[in-house]
Amino acid sequence: MLKEFSQGVNQNLSKRSSPQVLTKKDLLSKLSILAISARYDNSCSSSGARRESHPYGLGNTHLSGICHTWSADGRCISLLKILMTNICINDCKYCVNRIKNDVPRAILTPEEIAYLTVEFYRRNYIEGLFLSSGIIKDPDYTMELMLRAVKLLRKKYYFNGYIHLKLIPGASRELVAEAFLLADRVSSNLEIAKEENLKCLAPQKSFSLLYTPLRIVRELYKEKNLKTPASTQLIVGATPETDKDILSLAKELYQKKLVRRVYYSAYIPVNEDKDLPAINEPPFLREHRLYQADWLLRFYGFSLEELFAEEEFLSLEMDPKLAWSLRNLHFFPIELTKADYWELVRVPGIGPVSAKKIIRARKEGPLTEESLKKLGIPLKRAKYFITLRGKPLFKTTKFSEKIIKNQLVETQLNLFKELSVYADCSL
Ligand code: SF4
Repeated sequence: MLKEFSQGVNQNLSKRSSPQVLTKKDLLSKLSILAISARYDNSCSSSGARRESHPYGLGNTHLSGICHTWSADGRCISLLKILMTNICINDCKYCVNRIKNDVPRAILTPEEIAYLTVEFYRRNYIEGLFLSSGIIKDPDYTMELMLRAVKLLRKKYYFNGYIHLKLIPGASRELVAEAFLLADRVSSNLEIAKEENLKCLAPQKSFSLLYTPLRIVRELYKEKNLKTPASTQLIVGATPETDKDILSLAKELYQKKLVRRVYYSAYIPVNEDKDLPAINEPPFLREHRLYQADWLLRFYGFSLEELFAEEEFLSLEMDPKLAWSLRNLHFFPIELTKADYWELVRVPGIGPVSAKKIIRARKEGPLTEESLKKLGIPLKRAKYFITLRGKPLFKTTKFSEKIIKNQLVETQLNLFKELSVYADCSL
C-alpha cells in the first residue's frame, strides 16, 4: 500500500504547489516509523496484526498504519493510525518510544499530517484519522502541534471525517477544550490500574496528571448533559493488578462518566527492565475475558461482586457469564415464556439482541423451538439453561456443572483461537 500511495503522492506533488516539504523518501520513512510506533495503542481498536500474505492476494495488515473502529451508527470504519512523533521526553518502561530507547525517530509536521490524511482519504483507504504522539518539548507544545494538524484538516481541507485525538496529559485546559471541539473522539490513557504501579513503570506520570484531561472533557460535556466522547486504555499484565482491580477502576470510570469506553491492552514486551515481567507471550486471552466482563457490567446488569465471588481473576477456561452461571445453577433453568429481560440476558448464549427478540416474539404468538431458531436465537449454549413451557431443551435428566462444562468449555477455547486476530502475532 505504501508503494502505491507513494506513486500517487509523487504525481500529486508534481501537480500541486503544496506541501513542498514532502519527498517520497522522507514521507515513506517517516510514515513507516510512526505507524509502527502507534501500534501499541489500543484505544481506537486494532491495527498492525501480522498475517501471512499471498503474493497475488488482496490486502495486507502488516505495518500499514490502518486500523478500524466503529462509528455511532455501527459501521466499521478505517482510520489512518499514526503518531505525530515517536520522540518523547518521558521514560515509560513499557513503551517502545521511551527516551532511553535507541530507535529510529521521526516527526511529521502538521501540514504533512493533514496532507497525508486527505490523500489517504481521497484514495478511499481511510475514513478518518487517529492521531497520537510522544511528548516533544512539553505537553502544551505537543498538543498545539497536533491541534494545528486537526485545524488544517477541518478548516483548510474541510475534512468532515472521523478524528480521534489523543489528549496529551499536562496540556492546558484551553488546548484540551479545543481538541474536544475539533475531534469526534478523544482519549487519555491511564495505562496502569493502581497508581503505585504506574509510578514504578512511568515515573513522570501520576493519576492526577492522567485524569485531568478526562475530567476537563467530562465537565465540558456535563454542561450539555451528553455522554463524554473520551476513552482510555489499561495495560493488562505489566503489573500485578488482578482482573478485579482492573475492572473496579473501569467501573468507577464508567460510573463517574469520565469515559465512554475502557480499552484493555495485553502487555506486549518491547523493552527489558527489571521492573517488567518476563513473559513468553502477551496475555491476549486475559484481555479478551476482561472485555467480556466489561460488557457484562455495562449491558447485562452484572455486578463486580457477582463476577468475582471466589477469585480475583476471571477464568481463562470459560467466559465470565458461563463461569457465573455454573457457580449459580440454582438460578436456572429460566422459563423462556415468562422470564423478564434481565433474567434472559443472564442465560449463556442470550445477549441483549436475542432477549429483545424473545420478548417481542412472545407478544406475537407462542414460542416454539422452531420459532426460536427462525428468530436466529443461538440455542447451542442456551439450551442447558432454559425451559420452554416447562420442558428442558437439553435432553438429559442430569443438569450438572460437569456435563455443561464438558460440552461448552473446549468449544469456547477453540473458537477464541480460531477467531483471534492475535493468534499469529509474532513479537
Ligand atoms: S509518554 Fe510514555 S507511553 Fe507515551 S510515548 Fe512517551 S514514553 Fe511512550
